[in-house]
Amino acid sequence: MEIACLDLEGVLIPEIWIAFAERTGIPDLRATTRDIPDYDRLMRQRLRLLEEHRLGLPDIQAVIGAMSPLPGAAEFLNWMRERFQVVILSDTYYEFATPLMRQLGYPTLMCNRLAVDGTGRVVGYRLRQPDQKREAVKAFHGLNFRVIAAGDSYNDTAMLTEADAGILFCPPDNVVREFPQFPVTHDYSELRNAFVEARRGLTES
Ligand SMILES: [Mg+2]
Repeated sequence: MEIACLDLEGVLIPEIWIAFAERTGIPDLRATTRDIPDYDRLMRQRLRLLEEHRLGLPDIQAVIGAMSPLPGAAEFLNWMRERFQVVILSDTYYEFATPLMRQLGYPTLMCNRLAVDGTGRVVGYRLRQPDQKREAVKAFHGLNFRVIAAGDSYNDTAMLTEADAGILFCPPDNVVREFPQFPVTHDYSELRNAFVEARRGLTES
């Protein structure tokens, strides 16, 4: 049996911080690890901006609740869940993702948690485990599952490498150049086909 591990942002939903920056009109929230490579510094800047704009968790969740998954994502996910055991591995936070998960029928999601005080103020964040996408694939292997993984960016490449088969979905050009071993897909139809192909390859090997 195969487990399909899917990245979340950029595969099923928009990049949350970028969409959130657009919705709230706070341009500095658009910064990503490409702008500030130190993740802790980036997160501390984001939390400071939320504080400055007096955005507590309920406000954030209301904004995110008005966002939608990518067009066709829900149908793609349903198709996948009929054929694979699907697990979503993401570096986002449950508190952010949950309003969007509702629109996807609450698939299994492994990600991280924010630290929130009694007033709804976001005071910090907790990464569950270092390199958690790779560790999840290793753990599924320990349970005797084969793993086919798909993601869109750098933070997925360890997961794709660890998996029995890895697939890129709408990746940036530099990721395609640096990881030529992974097939590249550009829409859900190609991604569905790539999963079917990958499973066929694993079954025949
Ligand atoms: Mg992504």
